[in-house]
Amino acid sequence: MRAKLRKGYFGQFGGQFAPETLMFALEELEREYSKARQDKKFKVELNYYLKDFAGRPTPLYLAPNLSKSLKRIKVYLKREDLLHTGAHKINNTLGQVLLARRMKKQRIIAETGAGQHGVATATVAALFNMSCDIYMGEEDIARQSLNVFRMKMLGAKVIPVNSGSKTLKDATSEAIRDWVTNVTTTHYIIGSIIGPYPFPMIVRDFQSIIGKEARQQILKIEKKLPDYLVACVGGGSNSIGLFNPFFNDRLVKFIGIEAAGKGVDSNKHAASLLKGRTGVLHGSKMKVLQDNFGQIKIAHSIAPGLDYPGVGPEHCFYQAIKRAQYFAVTDKQALEGFEMLSRLEGIIPALEPAHAIYFLKNLAKLAKSGSVVILCLSGRGDKDVMSVSKILNYD
Ligand SMILES: *Cc1c(COP(=O)(O)O)cnc(C)c1O
Repeated sequence: MRAKLRKGYFGQFGGQFAPETLMFALEELEREYSKARQDKKFKVELNYYLKDFAGRPTPLYLAPNLSKSLKRIKVYLKREDLLHTGAHKINNTLGQVLLARRMKKQRIIAETGAGQHGVATATVAALFNMSCDIYMGEEDIARQSLNVFRMKMLGAKVIPVNSGSKTLKDATSEAIRDWVTNVTTTHYIIGSIIGPYPFPMIVRDFQSIIGKEARQQILKIEKKLPDYLVACVGGGSNSIGLFNPFFNDRLVKFIGIEAAGKGVDSNKHAASLLKGRTGVLHGSKMKVLQDNFGQIKIAHSIAPGLDYPGVGPEHCFYQAIKRAQYFAVTDKQALEGFEMLSRLEGIIPALEPAHAIYFLKNLAKLAKSGSVVILCLSGRGDKDVMSVSKILNYD
């Protein structure tokens, strides 16, 4: 193990805690990425697929009924739910698959929890005719059979992981293990702003399209910057994608919403920023849910995409310097947010951003009247309809 200092850090968080065998691949990735970002051809190619394949730019949509019902705030939705495959994940998988092609890697691997990142990865692998293996915990395979079928239909192989809690954390560990063994032929597309440097930077940059578009759109519509940005935080990629392009706009407040599960004082939640301690997970120093002995705790959330016991180093840094504020919303409240947006606006959200939607009720009380809010609607709710229907009774 070797830790690189300063470069690749966000304050005291981040770094590159990886086995020697990966160092070469991480350096190759960093080199290729810094060349690609200066290459006009790469930019043109990525923009082409983002637009014509994935459906960018996504609308910044004023939610009229939600705003009316909340009374004191004006809410705009950044509609990542309208993207191909149904969530923001495709922004990152498209960028990374193009990087993999530049590095002449023929094989793609990824980890997935709910299957959203797995589907987005299998999709771009199909697009470029690459072989694709997706690691997924057995517990998640049982819970998310529709996405498992989707990945297989797209030509990917789904590899069951039966170690640990048989969920996302263990799938990530297995994917890293595979990468160590097959690093010359294989690129690992990590799904959020986690992992060893340069992954948190690369994923952040590819997701920043969310905030860049939103910034231009709100300036055009409102002729001013927003007062608040609100987004849900799992690993942290959709929220960082929205926040980062506003970093220097000091009057724009950032609010990240973690999953409180059955309550942050229960043992069943995923609030790593609010309840975690600094540690190393999956190659990066970050806030991690751990017990008194440093064992990683099992995270819980009704939203499978928020069910991770760590959180990207850039968020840990934003929290430390007080650039962003973080709150947590419970499973039950998220269901209320889910119903609220569905009923009021005719938009069924994914359970992940439903956490952020619920929080708007609190924000409406504490914000100055007339505040303009942008909420990242990170994905659509089709994937959650079955599980929600088992909890809520509409008869
Ligand atoms: C995966 C996912 C998330 C959580 O991941 P982040 O990296 O925190 O964005 C949130 N919303 C949706 C719809 C997802 O699929």
